[in-house]
Amino acid sequence: MLELEYVLNKSANRLSGLHPVVRQATVKLIERSYAAGVPIMITQGLRTIEEQNELYAQGRTNPGQIVTNARGGYSYHNFGVAIDFCLLMPDGKNVSWDMTRDGNGNGKADWMEVVEIAKSLGFEWGGDWKSFKDYPHFEMTFGLSLADYRAGKKPSQAAQNAILARLTEQEDEEVQEQIKALLRRVEALEKQLEPTDPPVWAKSTVDKLTKKTKNGRPILSDPKGDTSFYRTLVVLDRLGAFD
Ligand SMILES: [Zn+2]
Repeated sequence: MLELEYVLNKSANRLSGLHPVVRQATVKLIERSYAAGVPIMITQGLRTIEEQNELYAQGRTNPGQIVTNARGGYSYHNFGVAIDFCLLMPDGKNVSWDMTRDGNGNGKADWMEVVEIAKSLGFEWGGDWKSFKDYPHFEMTFGLSLADYRAGKKPSQAAQNAILARLTEQEDEEVQEQIKALLRRVEALEKQLEPTDPPVWAKSTVDKLTKKTKNGRPILSDPKGDTSFYRTLVVLDRLGAFD
């Protein structure tokens, strides 16, 4: 299993230039996918308008295949609020766009597990688009259109807070889950400490002590205890303490 830090480092360069809230959500996406057993890599974050124009020219005025229908300023990437991802293979080097891969063997496609986590964090998925589907693509629009962004509008504080609340709300849930798991463990441990009937190996000692009296009373009147109680009795008995 790859280390989380290694997985985060793989994408670190791609996170610079992202809107701070989107960057935070992206880190969370990497962490939560990792926790689900699906290491991912961010392959694209901010793409400047010049870079977008260059990409748009590919397959049109420049050689190569057409890879985008968006000119500069017509992609959320140009405003640092979109990311593209792919699956990171267990060797930590190779990557995959295989949407059917089930690397964590839980019967669900890893790709869709990542999509589900991203949506819960407030991302919209390019695979949900009606016309041109962009499966590796997530964007966080904050309710602004591309025209808004081109006009220089910035995400409102309220829209940013709504996403931040989502991120911390889930953190609270994670902590709550951990506390619950801890309480279950404590409960199980307490059960082990609760008085039980004597185990087989302590039976003869307990029988002896309930029959034997001292000052008219049985040495052991209520033969209930935990494991260490019985162990002590047996050790003392073997040492001849009750003879
Ligand atoms: Zn994209």
